[in-house]
Amino acid sequence: MTVLTKKKVLNVIKLLEEMYPEAGSELKYDSIFQLLVAVVLSAQATDKSVNLVTKELFAKYPDAESIAVIEEEELQRIIKSIGLYKTKSKNIVRLARIINDKYNGEVPGDYDKLIQLPGVGRKTANVVLANGFGVQRIAVDTHVFRVANRIGIVDEQNVLKTELSLMKVVPEEKWISLHHCLIWHGRRVCEARRPRCSDCRLNEICLYAKNKTKKAL
Ligand code: SF4
Repeated sequence: MTVLTKKKVLNVIKLLEEMYPEAGSELKYDSIFQLLVAVVLSAQATDKSVNLVTKELFAKYPDAESIAVIEEEELQRIIKSIGLYKTKSKNIVRLARIINDKYNGEVPGDYDKLIQLPGVGRKTANVVLANGFGVQRIAVDTHVFRVANRIGIVDEQNVLKTELSLMKVVPEEKWISLHHCLIWHGRRVCEARRPRCSDCRLNEICLYAKNKTKKAL
């Protein structure tokens, strides 16, 4: 198992924060409920495609109360350009009803309650806690998983282990920031198929880049 030293990890975080001082969610929302809906919609879909459908959705149905009473077919009509739109419509109407009936229309800021909601798993709950409630969490999506493991912050085979290892090695006050920075870096430089290592400021530290250079020698 090869990972960076703690000192190097802190240096990576510092560089990423310098590179992406404005890193944050690229989903558009005006409330924690809208954030939750947008994150549920974003599974296997780009933030851009989610923002396109939530524009109409949130203009017509801005909260749990209004979504709780609509027909699934109406929701399907609005979000049909998004992958898995039928399942997502079902989950969103059901979760809106639960939030409306059980939590007075307010999204609960509690992990155990969040993951009981339809369509809400560990990653979604962590994103809502971090972005909606300011609770330090590291939600591991495909970008965080790929980039953290490439750089060598951790060396893990799945998202859960990656999250748990990141929580051990990264200072807690940096969890939200690192989550956003890794996503931004994964979208802009460390892309899945073609990481642009020669343009990357982490080139000197990153284990993936080092191994690539070694192989080329
Ligand atoms: S050096 Fe390459 S692999 Fe490493 S973080 Fe940068 S782009 Fe990604």
